[in-house]
Amino acid sequence: MLKPSLLQSHDHAHCMREAIATAHTICQTKKIRLTPIRLRIFELIWSNHKAVGAYDLLEILQREDPKAKPVTIYRALDFLLAAGLIHKVASLNAFVGCSTPETSHHSVLLICDTCQNTNEVEAQSIYEAICEIGEKNAFQPQQPTFELHGYCAACCKKMETR
Ligand SMILES: [Zn+2]
Ligand SMILES: [Zn+2]
Ligand SMILES: [Zn+2]
Repeated sequence: MLKPSLLQSHDHAHCMREAIATAHTICQTKKIRLTPIRLRIFELIWSNHKAVGAYDLLEILQREDPKAKPVTIYRALDFLLAAGLIHKVASLNAFVGCSTPETSHHSVLLICDTCQNTNEVEAQSIYEAICEIGEKNAFQPQQPTFELHGYCAACCKKMETR
């Protein structure tokens, strides 16, 4: 898992290679098919650590295949979500690659409002606290991920030196 300070400058090609290899393994284990279009959308989402919206994905895909339709994107996104390979960032109506898809987990997405980089970190304790609040109020929480907006270390540094 990436440290926030590492998010700006790191070997992202390595991130992508690992994410793609893990996705193939997970799909093989679950006996689900990572078709070329699903894989392509997955690669596009993983092209950086910023959350990306369905229409941005469509725009990029249409440069490669002018016949690509919104339904193509939505079906692929549904597949990737169900397989646990990506997360939906509800507050941005966008998607980001999951950093630990091989394990079931509760995480918090640290979303930088300046550079849009999103860092997924483990948040079991937050989840437990939420469940406790739910229990006390006879409410069953369903949220698998939490979202926290703010500024990443690199953007904070830039703001200081401005
Ligand atoms: Zn990376
Ligand atoms: Zn995840
Ligand atoms: Zn930032």
